[in-house]
Amino acid sequence: MARKQTHYHAHIDDARMSQAEPQRANFHSALDGSAEVINWLATQLREAAGNPDMELSDESELWKQLVGSKEQISTGLRGGPTIIAVPIPEDRCPCERPELRTVRGKSE
Ligand SMILES: [Zn+2]
Repeated sequence: MARKQTHYHAHIDDARMSQAEPQRANFHSALDGSAEVINWLATQLREAAGNPDMELSDESELWKQLVGSKEQISTGLRGGPTIIAVPIPEDRCPCERPELRTVRGKSE
């Protein structure tokens, strides 16, 4: 089996940055590697801002560094939503057990 890239779980919380938390209930999708993480964050941020042309090259550079050091990433708009990407240790990822993926909010 090929070694996977750093795996992140993506969350969107309607709360502001200081109150937002990644939770099972706001789990959005699974992301592998910095390209997917950056692309997802940028897409969600542009969508939240209602500006598909929003310039995010500085942010992308920062996100890339954070993925490189496997840190959690939080971004978003001042009044919410908060967009969160959490690094997941491979041996603790529910994605590895496909039978749990469809049971939203009830697994484990
Ligand atoms: Zn996963």
